[in-house]
Amino acid sequence: MKLGCPTEIKPQEFRVGMTPNAAREAVAHGHEVMIQQGAGVGAGFPDADYIAAGAQIVDTAEEIFASAEMIVKVKEPQAGERKMLREGQLLFTYLHLAPDPDQTRDLLASGCTAIAYETVTDAAGGLPLLAPMSEVAGKLAPQVGAWTLQKANGGRGVLMGGVPGVGPARVAVIGGGVVGTHAARVAAGMGADVTVLDRSLPRMRYLDDAFGGVFKTSYASAGNTAELVAQADMVIGAVLIPGAAAPKLVSRAQLADMKPGAAIVDVAIDQGGCFETSRATTHQDPIYDVDGIMHYCVANMPGAVARTSTIALGNATMPFMLALADKGWREACATDPHLLNGLNVHAGKLTYFAVGKALGIDV
Ligand code: NAD
Repeated sequence: MKLGCPTEIKPQEFRVGMTPNAAREAVAHGHEVMIQQGAGVGAGFPDADYIAAGAQIVDTAEEIFASAEMIVKVKEPQAGERKMLREGQLLFTYLHLAPDPDQTRDLLASGCTAIAYETVTDAAGGLPLLAPMSEVAGKLAPQVGAWTLQKANGGRGVLMGGVPGVGPARVAVIGGGVVGTHAARVAAGMGADVTVLDRSLPRMRYLDDAFGGVFKTSYASAGNTAELVAQADMVIGAVLIPGAAAPKLVSRAQLADMKPGAAIVDVAIDQGGCFETSRATTHQDPIYDVDGIMHYCVANMPGAVARTSTIALGNATMPFMLALADKGWREACATDPHLLNGLNVHAGKLTYFAVGKALGIDV
């Protein structure tokens, strides 16, 4: 099969859909790989790495969309890219169609077959192509929170691990899923005193078995949450109710009970955020102050570490990409129900129930 990987054109997107290692494996499977010139540079992969992997470098996205049978990307196709998609072409990328009627209409009109990373599942009921980005954002959260806590950034001027004779920062992590667990591990590794709050007892049992002694757990009742938030130097928001907006768990009034200069890192901001005072920010201007509490609410945190994120995403997508290329999408999906769950659009029809329901389109 002919695979094509264009340069991402969404603003501030430095990741790339295919790493040189993924290109090398596709070539070894007998496929032809086209990479747009410079596509990997933002993630630290020069064209030479792709050439060494056996891929062909082409000048423009137009050439890729005109001849590739499968397009491999990171972000949803932008309006200009959607015009180039063709009938029968396979698109493999993040789509997030439910809140995006314009993109959905264009994909349906193109006649392409689109498989969305975010709805591919695994045997454990997880989302294997979303998890790597939650792992990245979770591990980043204490790092950016520690920076936010620095005095020059408006923070409390507290060092995560303390020093001999001075105690560590206290960190409360609300939500102990993928983001929360990775955040808690890193915060504890920096020497902070960490408590994870969650509403799922099975999840807390797991966390206690796996990490008891590294960090503490607490049931996320409103009372426990209020108490730990008030005591914290840093609060990390990491809750998710699948398919729903994040619940607001900390009100503006509660900020008055917090320590002046404490840091809030609301990773759940991409679902609206779990603090009443959260609003999405960017890597250029990541933090703001509400009532003396510093908020960090960047909605695409993994973009800050584009190289790690690209490699992590590539590790997760590669087996599916190879199955699609080796077998064609029909056989690949027929033999893997988890990949079939990724199918969102085919030949002018929506094929994913939740997207159709959200947009009022028949599936
Ligand atoms: P997850 O499903 O693995 O974990 C969510 C956890 O929240 C679960 O353990 C659940 O029991 C818990 N929870 C739900 N309601 C709760 C409540 N009221 N109180 C306490 N805990 C509660 O999800 P995840 O992969 O860890 O993602 C967490 C959030 O981070 C999501 O909104 C996700 O979209 C977001 N995220 C943001 C970025 C970014 O760049 N900002 C990147 C990746 C993920």
